[in-house]
Amino acid sequence: MSATIAYRAPTLLVNGRWRAGKHRTAVPVVNPATAETLDHLQLADEKDIDEALQAAQRGFDAWRQVPAFERCACLEKGVARMRENLDHIATLLTLEQGKPLAEARAECAMAADLIKWYAEEARRTYGRIIPSRLPGSLMQVRKQPVGPVAAFSPWNFPLVLSARKIGGALAAGCSIILKAAEETPASVAAMVDCFHGLLPEGTLQLLFGVPAEVSEQLISSSVIRKVSFTGSVPVGRHLAQVSAKYLKRITLELGGHAPVIVCADADIGKTVAMMVAHKFRNAGQACLAPTRFYVAREIENDFLDAFTAASQQLVLGNGMQSSTQMGPLANARRVSAVQDLIQRSVQAGAKAHQGSCPETGFFAPVSVLTNVQPDSPIIQEEPFGPVATVTSFDSLDHALHLANQSPYGLAGYVFTDSARAIHQVSEQLEVGSLAINGMGVSVPEAPFGGVKDSGYGSESGIEGMEAFLDTKFTHYCA
Ligand code: NAD
Repeated sequence: MSATIAYRAPTLLVNGRWRAGKHRTAVPVVNPATAETLDHLQLADEKDIDEALQAAQRGFDAWRQVPAFERCACLEKGVARMRENLDHIATLLTLEQGKPLAEARAECAMAADLIKWYAEEARRTYGRIIPSRLPGSLMQVRKQPVGPVAAFSPWNFPLVLSARKIGGALAAGCSIILKAAEETPASVAAMVDCFHGLLPEGTLQLLFGVPAEVSEQLISSSVIRKVSFTGSVPVGRHLAQVSAKYLKRITLELGGHAPVIVCADADIGKTVAMMVAHKFRNAGQACLAPTRFYVAREIENDFLDAFTAASQQLVLGNGMQSSTQMGPLANARRVSAVQDLIQRSVQAGAKAHQGSCPETGFFAPVSVLTNVQPDSPIIQEEPFGPVATVTSFDSLDHALHLANQSPYGLAGYVFTDSARAIHQVSEQLEVGSLAINGMGVSVPEAPFGGVKDSGYGSESGIEGMEAFLDTKFTHYCA
């Protein structure tokens, strides 16, 4: 067992000050590996949220005046602090979220990388000059920060998914109020604290609260000009409606159910090794997790045997133990949701190949489901847990047809060396990100976002920066 630390639930960061929320409610923060309560988190009430809104406006008024080079330097100082404090932040993350410590460290490093990339991009927020129709006149396109941002991040990758919003908003010159997940508050607070004192007060604020109360109050406020949400489809749909009512721009990243097309020429050993690691990372609670495996009929049995054997060899346990390869699910409701989905799919004809798992804590076994029909619950609903399906296909057209039947469209994967197959999948697979013979669908410098029920808009890359910018045309007439 690694050295542990005393866990304390954080306070709110409002108007440049860490202070307790005044809501009558405090919620428990639970260690999912042991089911023990770590501490209680005091939530924000209406007045706290109002104070944050007023401060966000003042923060924006100040921060937008800071030259891009200086914004970049401030953010880079915060990133350096994140790197210095990486072990501490990662330990908090493992305690409250459950993922193995190595994964928590990698997540913190990735979050730092994201903010660093955005910081550098602040200096490259170019507009453009358009050739004029009239002598002596000048047509210019300017990029300006959209204004104070309300952002909502979930518990599965609390650091990375918050960093995408914090980095983009601050680099663009916006202020941001982040409502992070109440399940995993301390790691996000420790990350946010790395920027404390570097930015004007109110530029970066952190709230925890009753999610529906916070989002309603923030989005309906005239202060907020942009909304960014990562989470489930039902909540995303709801926030899209609230945002539409107040005509607020919104970016939605709502999860996925990624198809993996394994063609007959794929190297089974390499594909299985890569996909088992990727599938069961964070116990499968990843929006880009490979989940629906469509395998060429000629290699189906070999693939299934290798994939099932490798999955069942994973060591499940407390993420604080160095031997652990897969931790628990993040909370008790995920365990019942995954169990229920498997049960309904088995009732609909699926066969489940399952490993074992620890009895204490919120664990679920690694499960590989075969004999699944396109209308099976496991195909139609996002499992968001350690569950994969394996189905055979007869032709690439058939595989694409099956893969595109899902309502989701976030990430996709294909394994083949055939240029023709790669071209066809790149053209026809309905996803926002596609990895060919690999798993790298999410890097700071490239856009990440979905189609269909996976949401709209992109984070990361220049598209992620664009989401926090307004475009203004100015015409100087001679
Ligand atoms: P949920 O729908 O209850 O909550 C999802 C997230 O949204 C939580 O962080 C919650 O605090 C927040 N939320 C809920 N209501 C809100 C509101 N009215 N306003 C603002 N925020 C609100 O789901 P859950 O049980 O936490 O997670 C289950 C499902 O969520 C998963 O099956 C998965 O589909 C999805 N999910 C997706 C991602 C992702 O990366 N896209 C991350 C986490 C969860």
